[in-house]
Amino acid sequence: MRSCCAEHRTSSSSSSPFPASPLPRFPQSFPRRTVRWVRRPPDGTRRGRPATGRPCPSSPPIRDPGSPQLNADPADQLRLLDLQALDTRLTQLDHRLANLPEHTELRELEAELAQQRDLLVAARAQEGDTAREQTKAEQDVDQVRRRAERNQQRLDSGAVTSPKDLESLQSELGSLARRQDDLENVVLEIMERHEAAAERAREADGIVGGLEDRAAVVRERRDAASREIGDEAGAVRREREAVARTVPEALLKLYDRLRGQYGGIGAARLYRKQCEGCRLELDVTEINEIRRAPADTVVRCENCGRVLVRTADSGL
Ligand SMILES: [Zn+2]
Repeated sequence: MRSCCAEHRTSSSSSSPFPASPLPRFPQSFPRRTVRWVRRPPDGTRRGRPATGRPCPSSPPIRDPGSPQLNADPADQLRLLDLQALDTRLTQLDHRLANLPEHTELRELEAELAQQRDLLVAARAQEGDTAREQTKAEQDVDQVRRRAERNQQRLDSGAVTSPKDLESLQSELGSLARRQDDLENVVLEIMERHEAAAERAREADGIVGGLEDRAAVVRERRDAASREIGDEAGAVRREREAVARTVPEALLKLYDRLRGQYGGIGAARLYRKQCEGCRLELDVTEINEIRRAPADTVVRCENCGRVLVRTADSGL
């Protein structure tokens, strides 16, 4: 039941109709009653309003208890709906900007890029290592070959005549040839590893290049979409400022406060007896109360607390 004043609160009051309402404080002498407070839904709106209980005949139109009743020209109240539409558009644009598919696409590409760059770095490091290993192994081969050449020259020069020396020289030539063979096989094995590493590096380099190109295209697309959204948001913001300037300060302040409190919606149209803020249909009592309220009374939805703007389609 909507409580119009502290005196009219009863034990059946399951919730205060207004969000900013402080907990009721009872004087020491006042008999304390059991007041059940219902946990609000996450969006801050109120539910479970008891359908029973007629409003106190002296009750004021729905409004914040504790704050003075706000009055505003019906045309100004209607402008709140324009303002709300613009604010909703801004929220949608913000949401679109934050959830552009390009953001996800880029995140995925960046993750793949990081992986391929790691592979590229590893392949290049291995390419460098095997290149150095190959140089060293080739130097070993050269050393053995030069020694074999020198021995061969000595043998061919005829300077060595002693059969023992000749035999030893030929034996060394034989072992040098075997050593050279072994070392050349080592070089070949290293060359194979070097080639494989170089191939992996080339492949990873190609993949990284391709991914970078794709990322650049996606980034361009994201930037273009962001610019487009930003331009539209700028235009909407300017329009919003222009409309806001025409709304009386107190009404604008209330609207902005409620918008901050209730998920970006501070004012809603009363359409065919339904609050378009919380989508709940108002009961007969509430409709009658709103019907009785003067046109310049700023009416609030008892369920969600938003400003309810009356129009020709309100069903009053
Ligand atoms: Zn509502």
